[in-house]
Amino acid sequence: MERTPVLFVSHGAPTFALEPGRLGPQLTALGKALPRPKALLVVSPHWMTRGLRVAATAAPATVHDFGGFPRALFELQYPAPGAPALARRTQEVLRAAGWPAELDEHQGLDHGAWVPLRFLYPAADVPVFQLSLPAALDAKQAYALGQALRPLRDEGVLVVGSGSLTHNLYEFRMHDDGHEADYAREFAAWVRQVVEARDDERLQQTLAIAPHAKRAHPTAEHFLPLLVAAGAAAPDDRVQTLEGGITYGVLSMDSYVFGGAAS
Ligand code: ZN
Repeated sequence: MERTPVLFVSHGAPTFALEPGRLGPQLTALGKALPRPKALLVVSPHWMTRGLRVAATAAPATVHDFGGFPRALFELQYPAPGAPALARRTQEVLRAAGWPAELDEHQGLDHGAWVPLRFLYPAADVPVFQLSLPAALDAKQAYALGQALRPLRDEGVLVVGSGSLTHNLYEFRMHDDGHEADYAREFAAWVRQVVEARDDERLQQTLAIAPHAKRAHPTAEHFLPLLVAAGAAAPDDRVQTLEGGITYGVLSMDSYVFGGAAS
């Protein structure tokens, strides 16, 4: 089986599900262009746990884990099947790499998973399972966790790190005035340059050294999935950037494809 690519997807605000913007159509085109994976393994900051957990749910529910958004969002479903056998296989692969993980038979799909997947695979016909984001993870550990997942790419598993390239919700403007914050653009440009150069050492230091890092990510959890994705990518995997623009004035939707079609 051909090695699957790895994705980092910015899921932005939950309303992305209703407002495809620039990124939605690019994800849909990507889903059509990629060889069909056996399953999608999503790491999202909306499933954070103390220890590492792998969802082995047979039919994961669509979890509407947000409040204060339009009613139409709460009616959306993403009825993709789970992948319990691959979840158990993932547990084995992780254990072999020194990452003990518990299986979780009940976890549904959080919105960091189902919102972008509605664009990537609209028919919800590719099985999906999630890996939790341990609460105490730092940047280096997130990268190492991604490296531990790398063997799954030869078994048909497409790893998706779902986060947000910038994520300052204090500055989130529900009624977009059309102005894009310079700091978000500058931070996104810095990260893009580092990702495209595959300078993974520098990427791991982003939140310490990138311009406006603290403002772009007051907390790290929406950035860490990019490090998981970069870790799961092989060092020579080429990168394709999906330019997502900036939504709500401050949320960069930039996303990346490592390897696969991009190579
Ligand atoms: Zn989020």
